[in-house]
Amino acid sequence: MSYVTKSPWVIHYDGSSCNGCDIEVLACLTPMYDVERFGIINTGNPKHADIFLVTGSVNEQNISVVKQIYEQMPEPKVVVAIGICATSGGIFKECYNIMGGIDTVIPVDVYVPGCAARPEAIIDGVVKGLGVLAEKRAAMDKKPAAAAKAEIAADTKAAAKAEAQANSSEQKEAEATVAAIKEKEEA
Ligand code: SF4
Repeated sequence: MSYVTKSPWVIHYDGSSCNGCDIEVLACLTPMYDVERFGIINTGNPKHADIFLVTGSVNEQNISVVKQIYEQMPEPKVVVAIGICATSGGIFKECYNIMGGIDTVIPVDVYVPGCAARPEAIIDGVVKGLGVLAEKRAAMDKKPAAAAKAEIAADTKAAAKAEAQANSSEQKEAEATVAAIKEKEEA
């Protein structure tokens, strides 16, 4: 089955977290961190998602949900466990209903530490996930992983250049406005 290369879309599932890590995932979408500017979209449909972000641990009630979401995602896909609960069960590890981290049910590619995991760490985890996604795509394409990673690096460089150009033209516009105001005041 073929796939389409596009900006990474994520799907977020709260296993049995205390909501601490969930609020940090949502913080990544706010204007403060604004991951959408990198093309990262939070989708509600597993069939549209490339990266599965899971917070909280696995219990008897959610094991089938975690599996279903994972199975509905198209290949290649990446799983990012966010916070210590998703990594190992965390502070709830000894609870009677907790089975452990997400990797007791599905394979995990990236572990993001923290309680709660900070937005910067979550973004870093997603970026690491992009590298894994590129390797998986390369394996599917039988293309060298280095070439796939180079494509991502080139895209990132081009995006940074475009942002720098936009900032510089905004700066020039601001300078022109200030000059025009000064000219008016002097006249
Ligand atoms: S890692 Fe900490 S903040 Fe995150 S869900 Fe577990 S207890 Fe809550």
